Amino acid sequence: MDTTRATRRAGLRVTSALAAVTALTSCSAMETTARFAASRQGAVAQLVADVSGDGALTHLRALQRIADDNDGTRASPGPGYEASVDYVVAALRRAGFEVSTPTFTVSAGQGSGSNVELRNVVAQTATGSPDHVVMLGAHLDSVPAGPGINDNGSGVGSLLEIAEKLGSSPQLTNAVRFSFWGSEEVDLDGSTRYVEALNDAERQQIMMYVNLDMVASPNAGYFVQGGKGRKSASAGPPGSARIAEVLVEQFAAAGVAAETATFDGESDYAAFLDAGIPSGGVLAGDENKASERQAEKWGGRAGEAFDSCYHRACDRVENINGTALDRFTDAVAGTAGHFAASTTALTN
Ligand code: ZN
Repeated sequence: MDTTRATRRAGLRVTSALAAVTALTSCSAMETTARFAASRQGAVAQLVADVSGDGALTHLRALQRIADDNDGTRASPGPGYEASVDYVVAALRRAGFEVSTPTFTVSAGQGSGSNVELRNVVAQTATGSPDHVVMLGAHLDSVPAGPGINDNGSGVGSLLEIAEKLGSSPQLTNAVRFSFWGSEEVDLDGSTRYVEALNDAERQQIMMYVNLDMVASPNAGYFVQGGKGRKSASAGPPGSARIAEVLVEQFAAAGVAAETATFDGESDYAAFLDAGIPSGGVLAGDENKASERQAEKWGGRAGEAFDSCYHRACDRVENINGTALDRFTDAVAGTAGHFAASTTALTN
């Protein structure tokens, strides 16, 4: 017996057995990967099916009550803003999230000479890669003149609805972070200070940011920001066009043809654009008027403001467009889910 050959043959048998085991393993690994991909897609579809404008509306009613209890406003700084922060923190904790309230300092008011500390609200899923965070944000303050239910209780209510239905531990690839900003109506203070406070590593962990600012305008338009315009300040960093593309697809799935618009520097995405983070935005329109073409496309009234109560005392829950709120919530949920389930890098 040639022990060498026998050993070699035995070795071969072992090798081929190992190869079979390896093949089996990689086959089942592929099946597991496929199953996980299918379950991720299922989770996204389920999220879009689960969220609703009615769910968001319950939060708008609560924010209206907060304004009613605080001289008709939720302006920041102020007690209506503080109560709004407490409300959002409680809602996120009930949904199972660990919530943080990073602070920033602003002037207490004209001529007062003193400063006041304010809170943003931030919560992130416990699951998904924390190195590829899908971040969503809405400002939580109103102007002093009114309760700010469309501007921007609607964005807040929509995000809370998505957070509640997503839950804190979804089976997705990437983490999802929800953020609620103070003092947007002052000088974008909350979001600006938050982004400024991030170190390089923390900034790089944010794969993308989507901003919601007014998503239930009574004479609603359907605008998507990202990738439009020649300058980076108008279009956003590379990757922003892809975010807008997915938002438009998700609006189409919700039954509406959205229009793309440039970033105009007037909401909380500004700091994210400055930091080079790919961004998108959605808005239903402010005091600008709907054109004939837009009114026809969106079933609105031509020549009338998208929201005639913009920055006024009548920006109340009675002024809200439930259909718009529902569609925007669906489209943002679908977009967040799309990127949270994605296994590829975000490129333009
Ligand atoms: Zn706003």
